Amino acid sequence: MNVYDSEKILFHLVRRGYEKTLSVELADLVVLNTCTIREKAAQKAFSFLGRLNRLKQKNPDLIVAVGGCVAQQEGKKLIKRAPVVDIVFGTHAIDRLWEHISRFEHKRRRIIDVKMSESIDETRFWEEPASKAGTDSVKDSSVTAFVTIMQGCENYCTYCVVPYVRGKEISRRPDSIVREIEHLVKKGVREVTLLGQNVNSYGIRQGFCSFAQLVNRINSVEGLSRIRFTTSHPKDLSIELMETFISCDKLCNHIHLPVQSGSDRILKLMNRRYTSENYLEKVARLRKIMPDMAITTDIIVGFPGETEKDFQQTLNLIREVEFNSLFAFKYSDRPQVPSARFSEKVTEREKMHRLQQVLALQEELTSKKHHLLIGSLHKLLVEGFSKKHESAAKKNHRIQWTGRTQSNIVVNFTLNSGFDGDCDENLTGSMVDVMIEEAHSHSLRGRPVYINPERKGLKGDKYHVA
Ligand code: SAH
Ligand code: SF4
Repeated sequence: MNVYDSEKILFHLVRRGYEKTLSVELADLVVLNTCTIREKAAQKAFSFLGRLNRLKQKNPDLIVAVGGCVAQQEGKKLIKRAPVVDIVFGTHAIDRLWEHISRFEHKRRRIIDVKMSESIDETRFWEEPASKAGTDSVKDSSVTAFVTIMQGCENYCTYCVVPYVRGKEISRRPDSIVREIEHLVKKGVREVTLLGQNVNSYGIRQGFCSFAQLVNRINSVEGLSRIRFTTSHPKDLSIELMETFISCDKLCNHIHLPVQSGSDRILKLMNRRYTSENYLEKVARLRKIMPDMAITTDIIVGFPGETEKDFQQTLNLIREVEFNSLFAFKYSDRPQVPSARFSEKVTEREKMHRLQQVLALQEELTSKKHHLLIGSLHKLLVEGFSKKHESAAKKNHRIQWTGRTQSNIVVNFTLNSGFDGDCDENLTGSMVDVMIEEAHSHSLRGRPVYINPERKGLKGDKYHVA
């Protein structure tokens, strides 16, 4: 969500003549977009502000604007804690930021705007003509893009700060979402990830269409190859949405379904409103509908009161579901949330010990799943050069490409002669079929087996196998 918001901020600014600098040292204006979901994220923001403080001593004209959830949460207090900050803009003030900046430029008086609104901004910021400086914005070069379809959350899980810093749940209009996606496709985007804290409740409050109907509409956007979404709250995962995986050919067979804990006692304390049994039933249903569905999750370890027995139930659930991958977090108290007041806090040492056990178990499961993929065929959406391109190119002068399977696994591959060195064929954005040859813990290596007949000069040929 913050990536999407940052793109929006960038668009507003480049349109008004700002240019992105290559390093923070060269900037006249620094906009810091923050996250406060866990303690560590908020700490990162404050340590970066320490760095900006040193920069401002060298360049007193530097303007520092802080947005996002830390800004929303701290408001005025943020300036007391970090006097380097000139503008504090909350999660609903993104579209007013540029006005605040120009006012600050003229008056040099600090501005704090953490007003929350009851409506969602539907201005077509993405259609505004960008200045030439805007041509290097993320939206201009990516094959994949995030699209926020709703903001806020009212589920009030007891550990979570989102309802306090992102406000009420409000959905965007379906027409506006579809138009934005059509626009992204024109710019070269092939895959969109629809974002919401709980996409399952999209449109209900405003009486728009259901989330499943929205996905069906997006599925017919010409030129779009793939649709993903996140996050889906297990309590609201409907049969209608499960069936969308069959009816919408562009919807990838991957669902992120955060379970948080395998203990019903802890799930109740978390106010998640499902039991481990409900969760397992939904997983079974999903797999019945789509046997090769990739399921990923989020786990919190060390929630207040979590006993060894509760934790073992979480490990058991992970074993039973055999997730494709997961994100695991040590519980941290957040300001305002009910669980901050719960007693029986788990020690930092125990949290770390539990986190390591979850990660080790998942590593085993992922590795097993990855090895089972050796020899199978997958369609990749090529996202560009792989991270290791530089070193690979040095060793054997071949470009290493990277893409993702429908199930969201990274696959790297290389083409043979004719494509080496600085070849002008750009595979970015193409669909390539690969046979999996090697399995690693976080990625796979594949061999291209079929060439997209639409690619120029290579019609119908087989790849030169590397
Ligand atoms: N709306 C999403 C979650 C968004 S927050 C959902 O309900 O699934 C992303 C993840 O951060 C959560 O799934 C949870 O695992 C983690 N998280 C949230 N608050 C936390 C806290 N106080 N301590 C540790 N992890 C937390
Ligand atoms: Fe936070 Fe997600 Fe729960 Fe909403 S549903 S309160 S965002 S964890």
